[in-house]
Amino acid sequence: MADYDDFTYDVIVVGAGVMGSSTAYQIAKRGQKVLLLEQFDFLHHRGSSHGESRTTRVTYPEDYYPKMVLHSEKLWQEAESEVGYKVYFKTPQFDMGPKDSKSLQAVISSCRKNSIPFRILDHDDEVKGFCGKFHLGDHEDWIGVVNEHGGVIKPTKAVSMFQTLAFKHGARMKDNTEVSDIKRDDSNNGIVVITKEKQRFWCSKCVVTAGAWMQKLVQKVSDLTLPIQPLQTAVHYWKIKEGYEDDFKIENGFPTFASYGEPYIYGTPSLEFPGLIKVAVHGGNPCDPDKRTWTNGGGGAASVPLNSLREWVRSKFGDVVDAVNGPVMAQSCMYSMTPDEDLIIDFLGAEFGNDVVVAGGFSGHGFKMAPIIGKVLSQLAIDGQLLEDINSIVELKYFRIQRFEENPKGNLKEFEDQVGR
Ligand SMILES: Cc1cc2nc3c(=O)[nH]c(=O)nc-3n(C[C@H](O)[C@H](O)[C@H](O)COP(=O)(O)OP(=O)(O)OC[C@H]3O[C@@H](n4cnc5c(N)ncnc54)[C@H](O)[C@@H]3O)c2cc1C
Repeated sequence: MADYDDFTYDVIVVGAGVMGSSTAYQIAKRGQKVLLLEQFDFLHHRGSSHGESRTTRVTYPEDYYPKMVLHSEKLWQEAESEVGYKVYFKTPQFDMGPKDSKSLQAVISSCRKNSIPFRILDHDDEVKGFCGKFHLGDHEDWIGVVNEHGGVIKPTKAVSMFQTLAFKHGARMKDNTEVSDIKRDDSNNGIVVITKEKQRFWCSKCVVTAGAWMQKLVQKVSDLTLPIQPLQTAVHYWKIKEGYEDDFKIENGFPTFASYGEPYIYGTPSLEFPGLIKVAVHGGNPCDPDKRTWTNGGGGAASVPLNSLREWVRSKFGDVVDAVNGPVMAQSCMYSMTPDEDLIIDFLGAEFGNDVVVAGGFSGHGFKMAPIIGKVLSQLAIDGQLLEDINSIVELKYFRIQRFEENPKGNLKEFEDQVGR
């Protein structure tokens, strides 16, 4: 094999979280020479793609995401069969909230538009459903929405899967390699990627998937300031009362769930840690990704409104989950938040034209779509556009950088936004 430096790559991907790893896999699968660069160790826990569980759900208030999630379901399965192990565990999704919540009503209408079968449960049905585990006793004005397209994805294992498959298809991969600059190299009619240690790698196209470091890296490389705010946050695990553990298991049909209201709360069945259930708050505190505080489970002192979370656990699960002495475990993570919580997927433009593709701002909900995003980024890099198989599924107009020039808050939403919750 040639040395890294002897090579001109078709594509270099910067950042080996789930998005970069999935992209490298898709590019390698098409027979292109691809290099995946990561600033830390592969599978590190300092970004957004590590840990034991991510929810997948098709229930979005925006009607352009469900088809991306549905297509990703197929692509998760394809990758699983290729690698030979599972990262994706299907279960129903249960969304709940006040009947008049604009976001929950938008979820219902987006299910209808996307022909996704769902059931609406009223207050009494909900008490009976899911082994009687969700109590909405205090909330007679609440409803539930149930559909079959929920599930849990194991994040670290999924990133490892994409890296394994990328490698199998011939990708080169290099960790502990921080990219400090990306430049046009006119003598080679391409792009040169320069590392902090002054190594240089040449390519025709470059894809930047740097997670919470997107704004910093893109600012170094161009004049552009992407509106991507890193937030430090944490997920919390709660202890299920002895004797009730089985009721919360995925194999007994316990759902992934989300609760609309203030704050927006989500959770997954008992899967990764026996006897514990994950219940967490969507949101966090602004941070510099290189200067995290690592307090309160890494979330920062006031990053998660723990009292609201405790009260939610008490009111929904009664004394079957210990809200008094919990949470018993916290894991830290970072969101990359855009003002409208929509993704940024675009060409960098200016002197780079269509030769550098940027993808970030996955705003705490991107993991489930990593397979289709990998396909999108591979096509934008190799073909300069979306091909037929993806074009009808992904509406890139919602993800363009230019939307922030037209309106700093980005895409307009008719329902209340969730930023800052
Ligand atoms: C607590 C939490 C819960 C979440 N829950 C869900 C959920 O339930 N469902 C869901 O779908 N999504 C969820 N998400 C969101 C999802 O995990 C993220 O959208 C996704 O992991 C983002 O992946 P990424 O590859 O963009 O970023 P990252 O995983 O951060 O990857 C970016 C990589 O780029 C590297 N990098 C940065 N700068 C450089 C550089 N200069 N040179 C080289 N490498 C560089 C970083 O080190 C990092 O490894 C959650 C996120 C968090 C934090």
